[in-house]
Amino acid sequence: MLQRLRAWHRQRLLRRHGIAPGPWSAALRAFPLAGELSSGEQRQLWEVASLFLHRKAVEGGGGLEVTPEMAISVAIQAALPLLHLDPHYLDGWHAVIIHPGTFVARHEEVDEAGVEHITERELAGEAWDRGPLVLAWEDARPDHPGADEGNVVIHEIAHKIDASNGVANGFPPLRRGMDPQAWTAAFEAAWAHLEAADEAGHPDLDPYALTDPAEFFAVACEYFFVLPDQLETAYPALYDQLREFFAQDPLSRRVLGHHPGHRGDQRR
Ligand SMILES: [Zn+2]
Repeated sequence: MLQRLRAWHRQRLLRRHGIAPGPWSAALRAFPLAGELSSGEQRQLWEVASLFLHRKAVEGGGGLEVTPEMAISVAIQAALPLLHLDPHYLDGWHAVIIHPGTFVARHEEVDEAGVEHITERELAGEAWDRGPLVLAWEDARPDHPGADEGNVVIHEIAHKIDASNGVANGFPPLRRGMDPQAWTAAFEAAWAHLEAADEAGHPDLDPYALTDPAEFFAVACEYFFVLPDQLETAYPALYDQLREFFAQDPLSRRVLGHHPGHRGDQRR
């Protein structure tokens, strides 16, 4: 009964707030990863993106005026990892803030001795555990030059999914039936492998992943959706865990003979 009520509510929201066909087609064309989906999955992507925009306010920062096209573009990229996940993974935060370019993130931390440290870093994306998701449009636009090597929206949404049980630590609430030990084993083995490969001077994933377990998860998610062949080749057990978690298999969607670029940029 509850499930039927939820489905009815969802359909009613979509009738009222669904993204219009014209802007949706344009967003689909601009985001090649969505073009790999079946028509059924594209319909599902439209539902998830529409509900994303209904639930989250997309606002401009640093003087940027957010157009509906920009909001839809962020929503379609965010919707890809969320495609088959429960909507609860998006609970606990309300806003996406888009800056025109990279922005300076200012963090205040008090160390064990009680001394306050202020750090400022220039970022293209940032996700606060219970706060907004912040993006630089120049990096988040689907046609930006590094789009075949990574995706800052997917990266930051991965942090949000990870933090949906309180804090981003590389261990999101797993789908029912998944084995937490298998998850941990795959990530720990991958971490050790990447660390050794990085020390030897030939990392097979962006070594930024080694910042902490949360970054490892977010970077792995980017590879999973953008460069799945690279992730599956180097870390098959990790790929399997992510395939089970997201209930998607991006590698199987790739047409034969498609050789995406290798990643060389930095992510936050
Ligand atoms: Zn990150």
